[in-house]
Amino acid sequence: MENELQCGNCELVLTNEDEFCPRCGSLFEESVKCFTHPAADAEGVCVICHYAFCNECGSFVNGTFLCKEHEHYEVLQSLAVVAVCKETYESESLKNSLIENGLHPFLFSGKKSPSVYLPAKNSNAQNALDLAIYGSDEIKILVPFSEVLEAENILSSGEDKPVDHTL
Ligand SMILES: [Zn+2]
Ligand SMILES: [Zn+2]
Ligand SMILES: [Zn+2]
Repeated sequence: MENELQCGNCELVLTNEDEFCPRCGSLFEESVKCFTHPAADAEGVCVICHYAFCNECGSFVNGTFLCKEHEHYEVLQSLAVVAVCKETYESESLKNSLIENGLHPFLFSGKKSPSVYLPAKNSNAQNALDLAIYGSDEIKILVPFSEVLEAENILSSGEDKPVDHTL
């Protein structure tokens, strides 16, 4: 395809209308400036908030560009960890509240190495959840980058939870 462009960093195939790579935050436009420093050239686009930042305000962490505010997120391919649970019932309850709000959470246990599948655009959320691996001491809840901020709102508005959201 003529209008295809491949990200040189993560090899995601994009169109040449894309200004940045949504998977790793690589910036393809030369003229973009930092969101907080209008005089500084941007080095990348935070995959969580989609603002462009200079290398003082953001950096590539394991190949993914994150701004200072979002650099604490643990990322796996196009997913970010939004909560860590110790108990299955906690993760089930958080998972369900995310699904009720139309998000697409993935669950991974801490002990087995995660095999991450990128959710297809129209993938059935329930299928995605079948990837959950239970039985170890830590369960991570991940959502696609585009859903992280919404997931944080949902998780922080819950009342009855002895769950640690601080990562
Ligand atoms: Zn990329
Ligand atoms: Zn950000
Ligand atoms: Zn800056």
